[in-house]
Amino acid sequence: MNKCADSENSCSYTLYIQNDTEVRREKRKFKSSDEAIRAAMYMNMKETTIHKFVAYKCTKCVYYHIGHTSKLLSEKDRKKAKQFIKYNFIIKQKKNGHDRKH
Ligand SMILES: [Zn+2]
Repeated sequence: MNKCADSENSCSYTLYIQNDTEVRREKRKFKSSDEAIRAAMYMNMKETTIHKFVAYKCTKCVYYHIGHTSKLLSEKDRKKAKQFIKYNFIIKQKKNGHDRKH
């Protein structure tokens, strides 16, 4: 079990409101900054994302998480994210020989 999992403002959970109810959702943990950056870029690529996502190293656990900033995502950021994902996807495909689904 993770040491941060049971504290109230745990890094393992993120709170959001759904149908007037507070919902706790487990925050994704990434073992490397590369993985976290890729996940953040994936969010930045989405048309529904309004604020820019960034990857950060957690101070409470040994993992990386992603979170959104107060900065608005620009078309330029979105384009950059798309290119990043495209590039990484090609690299990954070449390495593994097949595409792994998350
Ligand atoms: Zn954490």
